[in-house]
Amino acid sequence: MDTIGSTLPSDPTLPPVVMPACPIERKLKGQKALVTGASSGIGKGIAIGLGHAGADVVVNYVSGPADAEAVVEEIKRCGGGNSYAHRCDVSNEAEVRQMFERMREDFGTIDILVNNAGLQQDAPFEEMTLAQWNKVIGVNLTGQFLCAREAVREFKRRGVQPAVSCAAGKIICISSVHDVIPWAGHVNYAASKGGVSLMMKSIAQEVAPWRIRVNAISPGAIRTPINMKAWDTIEAYTELMKLVPYKRIGEVDDIARAAAWLASDDSDYITGATIYLDGGMTLYPGFETGG
Ligand code: NAD
Repeated sequence: MDTIGSTLPSDPTLPPVVMPACPIERKLKGQKALVTGASSGIGKGIAIGLGHAGADVVVNYVSGPADAEAVVEEIKRCGGGNSYAHRCDVSNEAEVRQMFERMREDFGTIDILVNNAGLQQDAPFEEMTLAQWNKVIGVNLTGQFLCAREAVREFKRRGVQPAVSCAAGKIICISSVHDVIPWAGHVNYAASKGGVSLMMKSIAQEVAPWRIRVNAISPGAIRTPINMKAWDTIEAYTELMKLVPYKRIGEVDDIARAAAWLASDDSDYITGATIYLDGGMTLYPGFETGG
């Protein structure tokens, strides 16, 4: 039986964590998914996780076509579904439109959108340039808006297909714990994720009558390239654990499993919700010992 459970790499200060093997049920068989920013990190994990669950997956990337092709090959190998890579800057309206048009031509429609592409451009607030502000808002917030809008148009055009899913479509926005935790030195990033949070809820409220579900996953510290400085030395990792009551860094698999579930009919009555997948980072860890 296929599993997406895996032996995780050793954390510097803890024995290896072994995730329980998760039997794959092809709950997304026949569904067409698009994952943005899927050539690395969380997006790559989600794209492969949806593929394992039986979906056909478009792997969006903006740079590094070889990495995107490797994800495509993994999806075809393990999920048995169809997959291709598509280059598109999610902050560019014309490119986003083209990406959805091609998906409609090649896959017929879209059932699942995972708005994952994101980046950071950090600076002390008084030194932050307008270019840094616009870049982060453009990709992290406007990019999610542009992709969600195209997806909703297609979901409404096509409607519910009961043989495929109870819902006409599902959107999963990858936000961050920084949609509620202020983040000094990262004002543009926190503003973008705070924006994602209310954008997600407002879209969810507006499109629910069409049986379109819109939810968010807000990760804490996940072991990916975006935050390598926070976990790649023992000193950094030990410092990071002060913020994580569960005392381990999150793994891409943690997010992939939640995304596959949120995309499936098992979560059919959930819309407008944010799942904080953070080992307790949003639980005010400073009060762990009673304050
Ligand atoms: P990552 O850098 O590995 O992934 C981000 C991906 O987005 C990259 O593949 C990048 O090429 C892509 N991307 C950037 N600009 C793009 C654009 N204009 N168009 C299309 N793709 C673009 O980092 P990650 O940790 O996997 O981040 C994925 C998402 O998770 C981001 O939205 C990030 O904000 C969020 N997140 C990550 C963490 C974490 O701890 N890693 C925590 C909270 C939230």
